[in-house]
Amino acid sequence: MKIYKFGGASVKDAEGIKNVVRVLRNEGFKNTLIVISAMGKMTNAFEKIINSYQHKTGDLQQNIAFVREYHLAIMNALFKNKSNPVFREVETLFEELNKFLATNTSSDYNFIYDQIVGYGELLSTKIVSAYLNEIGIENQWIDVRKYIKTDDSYRDAYVNWELTSKNISTLNPNKLYIAQGFLGEDVLGNTTTLGREGSDYTAAIFAHCLSAKSLTIWKDVDGVLNADPRYFENAQLLHQISYSEAIEMAFYGASVIHPKTLKPLENKNIPLFVRSFYNLNSSGTTVGKGIDLIPETPCFILKENQILVSISALDFSFMVESNLSDIFKILHDNKLKVNLIQNSAISFSVCIEDKYNNFQQFITELMLKYKVSVMENVLLYTIRHATEKAINEIEQKGEVLLKQETRGTVQLVIK
Ligand code: ASP
Ligand code: MG
Repeated sequence: MKIYKFGGASVKDAEGIKNVVRVLRNEGFKNTLIVISAMGKMTNAFEKIINSYQHKTGDLQQNIAFVREYHLAIMNALFKNKSNPVFREVETLFEELNKFLATNTSSDYNFIYDQIVGYGELLSTKIVSAYLNEIGIENQWIDVRKYIKTDDSYRDAYVNWELTSKNISTLNPNKLYIAQGFLGEDVLGNTTTLGREGSDYTAAIFAHCLSAKSLTIWKDVDGVLNADPRYFENAQLLHQISYSEAIEMAFYGASVIHPKTLKPLENKNIPLFVRSFYNLNSSGTTVGKGIDLIPETPCFILKENQILVSISALDFSFMVESNLSDIFKILHDNKLKVNLIQNSAISFSVCIEDKYNNFQQFITELMLKYKVSVMENVLLYTIRHATEKAINEIEQKGEVLLKQETRGTVQLVIK
């Protein structure tokens, strides 16, 4: 079997869905399982619904109507036959959602989030599956929650691989299936999610459990580039990346491939193709075994909104194991993500990301015991396969606050 994954951008409107058909006809869709995300920015729209429900902001019905109309407009553009059962099925999903909102008694935000946000994927797959059937691409819609079983860590659920592979092994490899990305189910039958942008991971789970021939992630760019074209001129297409290089790139923050996606593929040596759903002539990027990088070129990863914190002891004594383990504990307790560490005799610097709004708490705690200086809103550049020229280019971008080099990887903190 082969696995395809289409993200939100590929199914954001009726034209997009017709383009998916073009891709399938061009590339073949026999023995294929297709994983699809919520349409366009619908996951964000569902997050708005969740917030208005949770905080009773008064615009709940309006936010639901927005999502409903978005999908109805796409269906109206796709289906000439207004008695296609998909119209009823979509209404049923909205009825289910409303029923949850009316009867839920839990106040656990993460639980509520997962019960609501998953409708984005349920809606998109219902619509795409019905459309493909209508135009003669016979397929079977499956509820991914019956296959991917997880624990109950809502919003970041952990996959139960044993149960999941058992369930997935019951699929018929000669069919065309349509499944939701992002979703799973816990033992109580509640919906769980695998983390934002988790549909790549869903596709990798299927690929792994089915020992698929390949996984193709269809994107609106030609493949994996050596830099984000929004921030770098002359971004270049990478033709081949090894699993380990891709894992390193994801570790440093490259956002093209969801980091969890790679391991399940690497373990079974399943190649990952990243290709453009517009430009079918481009062969895209292959991630697989073998050479680290073709072409061998510096790769740039930018992380914005970083905070550089330099810490020293109040009595100017050395920063040694005891202080360091103490500082790491405070970082960990406050769920701060450390993206760079530099240590000298009397000072210890970290570049961190405040994902959960805990920075103030962290600093307050830290200042009780240490001398601390903070620089907010700095940029962290990572260059893999760095060359002098590449480093110079980044150094031109501002004041270099910190620079660190390890085996071909150079990191620069810039203000
Ligand atoms: N729809 C989900 C999100 O936007 C999952 C995904 O697209 O991968 O985060
Ligand atoms: Mg998405």
